[in-house]
Amino acid sequence: MLNLRIYPDPVLRQKCEEVNPTDNLNLIFERMEEIMKEKEGVGFSAPQIGILKRLIVVKMNDEFVRLVNPEIIEGEGEEVCEEGCLSLPDVYLEIKRYQRVKVRGFTPEGVEREIIAEGLPARAFQHEIDHLNGILIIDHIPAEEKIDILMTYKYKAGTI
Ligand code: ZN
Repeated sequence: MLNLRIYPDPVLRQKCEEVNPTDNLNLIFERMEEIMKEKEGVGFSAPQIGILKRLIVVKMNDEFVRLVNPEIIEGEGEEVCEEGCLSLPDVYLEIKRYQRVKVRGFTPEGVEREIIAEGLPARAFQHEIDHLNGILIIDHIPAEEKIDILMTYKYKAGTI
């Protein structure tokens, strides 16, 4: 069973590998989507279930967009919004992101896909692609603030 990994699980700090889009990825994507639905998340990345592959799912207009090897190829504008992460329960931080992004990746069928997203899904794409590089929301805030957050953080590494 692939379970949700919780900070400070070291798997969340690893850089993920590129994936051959023609590999059979359905079971991984299905499990990612299942956790997103259960936890009402707007995005999810493979390392959050301990799989170090460049795979994300983002909910956009009721579609669960599955992307392989996603990249932000353009970003525009800035927006500060409160952001959480399923792997950091009860942590919500004000984070600056691009307001609008163009993302390129492959569908699980191996077809190249470009997506323009704004607002919340744009934020989710940036957040999930950060995960593929081992970057978490606590890395976007000043060091002092990060210490305060981690002092009150009560979860143990592993799964919930
Ligand atoms: Zn996250």
